[in-house]
Amino acid sequence: MSASERLSESFTSTCCYCGVGCGVVVIKEKNGTVAVEGNKDHPVNKGMLCSKGINLQYTVNDKSDRLLYPQMRYNKSMPLQRVSWDEALQRTAAVFKTFIQKYGPESVAFYASGQCLTEEYYVLNKLIKGFIGSNNLDTNSRLCMSSAVAGYKMALGEDSVPICYDDIELADTFYVTGANPAWCHPILWRRVEAHKAANPQVKIIVVDPRVTDTCSIADLHLQLNPGTDVTLNHALGRILIENGDIDLDFIQHHAEGFEKYKELVFGKTVAEAAEICGVREEDMRLAASYIGNAKGFISMWTMGLNQSSVGVNKNLSLLNLNLITGHIGKPGSGPFSLTGQPNAMGGREVGGLSNLLSAHRNLNNPVHREEVQKFWGGGIISEKPGLTATEMFEALNDGRLKAIWILCTNPLTSLPNARLAEKALKKAKFVVVQEISDKPETLQYADVILPAAAWAEKEGTMTNSERRISYLNKVLDPPAEALPDAEIICRFAQHMGYKGFDFANAAAIYQEHVQLTVGTNIDITGLNYEVLKEKGTVQWPYKLGVTGNGTHRLFTDKKFYTPSAKAIIHAAPDEFRSEKPSPDFPLILTTGRIRDQWHTMSKTGKVNKLKKHIGQAFLEIHPLDADVLGIKEEDIVLVSSQRGEVRVKAKLSAAIKQGVVFLPMHWGKILGSDLNRANNVTNDLLDPISKEPDFKYCAVRVEKYKKP
Ligand code: SF4
Repeated sequence: MSASERLSESFTSTCCYCGVGCGVVVIKEKNGTVAVEGNKDHPVNKGMLCSKGINLQYTVNDKSDRLLYPQMRYNKSMPLQRVSWDEALQRTAAVFKTFIQKYGPESVAFYASGQCLTEEYYVLNKLIKGFIGSNNLDTNSRLCMSSAVAGYKMALGEDSVPICYDDIELADTFYVTGANPAWCHPILWRRVEAHKAANPQVKIIVVDPRVTDTCSIADLHLQLNPGTDVTLNHALGRILIENGDIDLDFIQHHAEGFEKYKELVFGKTVAEAAEICGVREEDMRLAASYIGNAKGFISMWTMGLNQSSVGVNKNLSLLNLNLITGHIGKPGSGPFSLTGQPNAMGGREVGGLSNLLSAHRNLNNPVHREEVQKFWGGGIISEKPGLTATEMFEALNDGRLKAIWILCTNPLTSLPNARLAEKALKKAKFVVVQEISDKPETLQYADVILPAAAWAEKEGTMTNSERRISYLNKVLDPPAEALPDAEIICRFAQHMGYKGFDFANAAAIYQEHVQLTVGTNIDITGLNYEVLKEKGTVQWPYKLGVTGNGTHRLFTDKKFYTPSAKAIIHAAPDEFRSEKPSPDFPLILTTGRIRDQWHTMSKTGKVNKLKKHIGQAFLEIHPLDADVLGIKEEDIVLVSSQRGEVRVKAKLSAAIKQGVVFLPMHWGKILGSDLNRANNVTNDLLDPISKEPDFKYCAVRVEKYKKP
């Protein structure tokens, strides 16, 4: 007997970790705790859950770290004291009003998260852009998906993932680059594994400087030098052109820019590219032959391409491979960015980044600004893009930004060059932290702490990596005085004196968002909570009158969202912008996730079972590099860069390329000390277009730690 049969009250929801968006059934036990099982009827996971999803209940049942009441202090030297919601929000509104009046609307900012629900994103966006009058709303999605967003917009005209998960079983060639989905998107990868097991002729190419679990089913692993993705993709483009393995009809009728691209990729021989990338020329040619012979070709990528100072160029160079081969807008084919967070896509739908507007409208388009402005009925929407994630902390440091409101994210572990971010929060005049847990490092800098409801304690919607919108039920009441994030924002807006935030419930917020999508490419006018509850999930667009479960695939008519309706093949420059290794810092550091932890561990860190996989931070280093440095397995090593130091145990592994070292991104003060924090050493250098940081490349020195 399953748990849902055993107990009377069960609710459908969606896993709150990664962007795969697995469906779960949450069972409310009689004692007020919950149990979680995979939803067998959900199209994404059909009942399966990964190690993180299957342990979701522990994060909700354990309330030992929960924030229960609003707290506040009137100056930095005072201790925080419990106050009422009205006191906390009244004072926050007074401080925000003072700063706005004195220094202008750009003196305040909100820093949110790809884990916020769409409704929460919507009200935040409306508040700052429509009423406060600045665009200073950014989220930690800036740290993971903004290069992919920019790439899609430049190549396809809009931030639109063309593909659906069902394309996996229809494809025969996968090019997985800068991603380790076996660990980071496990349930999605199980589908690829099952497809390959049933169809051994399916080809899988993995591109990664490390031999990861994803490589275990690869036909070909290109273990490239970090940062050489554009060189590799251009070389593959060249070979495809030379071999005649391109779709000339698609290029002639549905794309622009091919001739310039061809000229660019022929600027380097394949042998030269192979030398730069550190892979064998014959392997490059083999990869190109797999792609060239594909009937269905899916390119899959995530942070290895996005988190780079040339992240947009990397994205464009990859999108080009789908475009020149015509593998887009048809079954089993397309570019497929794997979203890191559960609702990064939903956030973008409502315009939840500092350079976006609602429903994929453009901030720099006066018509779009006017449409949204009229709809909201607030003030003038500024055309000036707001501060991005790292820029907000720079602006706190130099005094341009006076107040920051941080919700649902832990920037002091997740931002690059974390010590600088720490300095910035120390200098901030006013810090509001809206959180579920009493653990994040940001709390020690807060002037106001607002306790928020957690997953399963509020209702709302999220959108996964394949544009699939799902409704999340409220199962439990939040503890003590904690409130849903959307309600906190709306109450604050009312304290600021703004009209249009008196929503009766989350459904009403959703309906307002739906109305703003009328006539846009993400039109969801056929949707409301009732439809979502009845259908389970749907994929956008979902126009009024549509039946079924929405739009599985985009661009099936080969009409793109660019002015010419053609896709753009960009001659993306092959440039190097990262920090160069030097005699002082001779190794290249790359960072990433491990299988059983999520982000900065504020949730997964509470689950003992998940610590069994890997229980502490480590530095992965090639045995030959370690040997030269006199480092043995489990030795404590000091990793230094120009920005700071990390002290962790060494893990010797031939799975990493020589000259490259790896640190997991999860550890910080929440579980341990800030000496474990990878972002002490990472670089806050940004991609000039996407403003995404260069997490995957910085110069470091590694030495055996000697006690002083
Ligand atoms: Fe949750 Fe992602 Fe695991 Fe699915 S694959 S259960 S969404 S963490």
